[in-house]
Amino acid sequence: MTDAVRATPVVAYVGLGSNLSDPAAQVRQAMAELNGLPESELLARSPLYRTAPVGPADQPDYVNAVVSLKTRLSPRGLLEALQAIERAHGRQRDGTRWGPRTLDLDILLYGDERLSEPGLQIPHPEMGGRAFVLVPLADVAPSGLRVPGLGTLADLIERCPREGIAPIPVG
Ligand code: ADP
Ligand code: MG
Repeated sequence: MTDAVRATPVVAYVGLGSNLSDPAAQVRQAMAELNGLPESELLARSPLYRTAPVGPADQPDYVNAVVSLKTRLSPRGLLEALQAIERAHGRQRDGTRWGPRTLDLDILLYGDERLSEPGLQIPHPEMGGRAFVLVPLADVAPSGLRVPGLGTLADLIERCPREGIAPIPVG
């Protein structure tokens, strides 16, 4: 861990995605692992959604979801913990942008903070126009939630075409 735990917890939102090796199982398992993060408490899990791939189209559909957690991990500490979970799911980074992956965990929001550092940008730079992030985010966050620099979640959802995304029935 590169930096310290914070005295005051914040609510963070984490986006989950997978399109390889039984994606729904990868995402459910990752939620269980997020539930075990140190210095953190999982608050809510969205339903899982089947979504069309962004970027290269010759890859399987994705499963996406979002969780909220209360955490005292710093943004960098949280990122490192998420990357450790990605690695445990056998994630290989071959440099292909938006290419297939067993598990992708992104910090969408960390309280109301904005951060732009090498390797860590918060809010996540692509979240504003992506239904597969915004729709599950709205399942676990209040619609009045402010996305720093972008406006409210409700406004973002209204502007975003809700295409290529379908809830996966439970069970
Ligand atoms: P993507 O999620 O954009 O498809 P990756 O998961 O391969 O791509 O992430 C690439 C890099 O994005 C990671 O090495 C990480 O350092 C960086 N990154 C920047 N901001 C964030 C964030 N908010 N959450 C997760 N990763 C981030
Ligand atoms: Mg990522």
